[in-house]
Amino acid sequence: MNRVLEIAGLVKTFGGLTATDNVSLTVNSGEIHALIGPNGAGKSTLINQICGELQPNAGQIHLAGRDVTHLSAADRVGLGLGRTFQITSLLDEMTVRENLGLAIQAREGSNFHIFDRAATRSEVWNETDEILSGSALGARSKVMVGDLAHGEKKQLELLMALSQRPRVLLLDEPMAGLGHIESQQMIASLRAARSECAMLLVEHDMEAVFALADRISVLVYGRIIAAGTADEIRADPAVREAYLGEEDA
Ligand code: ADP
Ligand code: MG
Repeated sequence: MNRVLEIAGLVKTFGGLTATDNVSLTVNSGEIHALIGPNGAGKSTLINQICGELQPNAGQIHLAGRDVTHLSAADRVGLGLGRTFQITSLLDEMTVRENLGLAIQAREGSNFHIFDRAATRSEVWNETDEILSGSALGARSKVMVGDLAHGEKKQLELLMALSQRPRVLLLDEPMAGLGHIESQQMIASLRAARSECAMLLVEHDMEAVFALADRISVLVYGRIIAAGTADEIRADPAVREAYLGEEDA
C-alpha cells in the first residue's frame, strides 16, 4: 500500500507539557484516516507539526516518501500537502467563482509565461466552472462570498483546498459549527473527494467520523491509545473508557 503521509515518533512540548508524546501514524493513498480525541488531546498541535507551522522536538514526517520534517510550510504545500483554506482567507466582496478562480491561479503561479496570459486565464476559468458545476455550490457561483451561509463557506474552503490537487489533505474539524443538513452535505463532499486525495481528518462529530473513516486513531493526552477500523475502535475498551464514554454502563 502506498504511504502518502508517514509520521514517526513526533514529540512536541510546551514548557512542561508534552502535547504530542511520541505519535506515529500513516495515511495511505485513497484513505480517510480520522484522528479523534478529547479537547486538549493534542490534535491541532499534531496537524500544525505536519503542515510545518510548528517544529517538533523529535520525530520525522515523510510526505510521499520524502523527509519534510525540516521543510517550510510552503515547500510542503509544493510537495502535495493540502490544508483547507480558512474562512478568514475568503474574499467576501468577490463571488464564489472568483474566489475559486484565484485559488487555481495561485496554484499555477509561475507555471506559465507572461505571453500565455490569455490562454492561462481561459484555462483557469474553464477549470473553475468545471469544479463548481460538479459541486454543492453549482448554483451559487455568482453569489458574493459574504452572502453565503456558514456551511456554504466551508464547502468553498474545501473546493479551494482540493483545487490545489494535494496528495493528502489535512482537515481540522470541517464539521465545526455546521447544522445537521450542512454536516450531511459536508460528509457527502468529503466522501466524493476521497477519489482525489487521501485525508487526515480531525473531527469531533462521531457520526461523520464513523461514516467516513477507513481507519481511526485515538489521541488522549498526547498519545495514540488505539488505532483501527471503525468497528475495532467502537469495541476497544480503552477507547470506550477514555473517550467514547461507557454507553452500556
Ligand atoms: P486539541 O486540538 O486536541 O484540542 P491542542 O493541540 O490544541 O489540542 O492542545 C494540546 C495541549 O497543548 C493543550 O493542553 C493546549 O493547552 C496545549 N497547547 C496548544 N498549543 C499551545 C501553545 N502554543 N503554547 C502552549 N500550550 C499549547
Ligand atoms: Mg484542536
